[in-house]
Amino acid sequence: MKSLAAGPRDTAHSGIREVVNVALTMPDAIRLEVGQPNFDTPAHIVEATVQAAREGATKYTATAGILSLRKLLVEKLASVNKIKADPTQINVTIGGVGGLAATLLAVLEEGDEVLVPDPAWPNYRLELSYSPAKMVSYPLHAAREFAPDAVELEQYITPRTKLLIINSPCNPTGAVFPRKVVEEIVGLCQKHDLYLLSDECYDEIVFEGEHVSPASFWEDERVISVFTFSKTYAMTGFRVGYTVTNHALADVINKILEANMSCATSFAQKGAEAALTGPREPVLKMVEAYRRRRDIVDGMLRETGMWASKPHGAFYAMADVSRSGMDSRTFAFKLLEEARVAVAPGTAFGETARDLVRISLASADEDLSEGIRRMHQFIEQAAANA
Ligand code: PLP
Repeated sequence: MKSLAAGPRDTAHSGIREVVNVALTMPDAIRLEVGQPNFDTPAHIVEATVQAAREGATKYTATAGILSLRKLLVEKLASVNKIKADPTQINVTIGGVGGLAATLLAVLEEGDEVLVPDPAWPNYRLELSYSPAKMVSYPLHAAREFAPDAVELEQYITPRTKLLIINSPCNPTGAVFPRKVVEEIVGLCQKHDLYLLSDECYDEIVFEGEHVSPASFWEDERVISVFTFSKTYAMTGFRVGYTVTNHALADVINKILEANMSCATSFAQKGAEAALTGPREPVLKMVEAYRRRRDIVDGMLRETGMWASKPHGAFYAMADVSRSGMDSRTFAFKLLEEARVAVAPGTAFGETARDLVRISLASADEDLSEGIRRMHQFIEQAAANA
């Protein structure tokens, strides 16, 4: 048989999934590895979705998404993100991941370079595995609370660089980039004529400071902002996200969606409308729970010498496991095998995080306390035996 496409064929599966698959065979394992809210989708959203399906919202919608949803998104973008847009600049996608994939297809060509953060959510690498463009990683450091350093970042820009990817609030680091950093990044993109893909899927999960959308102050309209309902509203299975960008690029993204997805699920889009128009309390309660867990985890990591950086948003914390003497992948599998705690190895997110593991704050308080206690004990034993 002729060979399969080399890019995706030769790209490894997500390093988080590897751990998930083993953890699934251990019913007694404490699960701190998955980035999925442990809350139910708010009842009013589920009800509205079911009702919409009953009332006939079971057909194709416009490729860009139901107009009434896009009109609500115009309001949300203006009030939450300070982004001015009209409905034709918005494409509703199959999760944020669908928006990211369509954007990469719309922008990148053979010979282009794309700058991807390290550490980063593994899907960028997976999606780029079938892109003709070359992926170039730029490092993020715990010492800078994992915010990019514009001077360092500029060293990775070449005449071929076309797109820069940023992610704030960040998975896996919990970083929320300060306004000054976002301004510097925007300045770099203007100076070097780059598109900026801003993954803002955790935009409403912020503990301190503010989330700054680069598109809020960039008149040049070269930002592609990607959002989702998955995280803010615990709607991961609904698969509804959206992109907003300039009209020309929005139209190209639209053609890609037309060819590959037709539209996001009709009744899930109606659920998304209910999320935007319904009560805020469920969202505020979830964010409060993530903040409480962040405080528990941050305190325990500091006490046990595993602290790497304080998360200010999203729902993840990084822990330094270098004292174990193992790289984080080996560490994660041994920890799971011997102490029955599942964490995501830093190696799943890039090279820079080799000594770190990601802990998901989307897990119950008691699981976080007990999991970190076991992790500490495991590290001390490993260090003593070294
Ligand atoms: N971006 C980041 C950084 C994420 O962590 C995720 C999900 O984990 C997504 C985008 C996409 O989420 P979804 O496709 O569920 O909207």
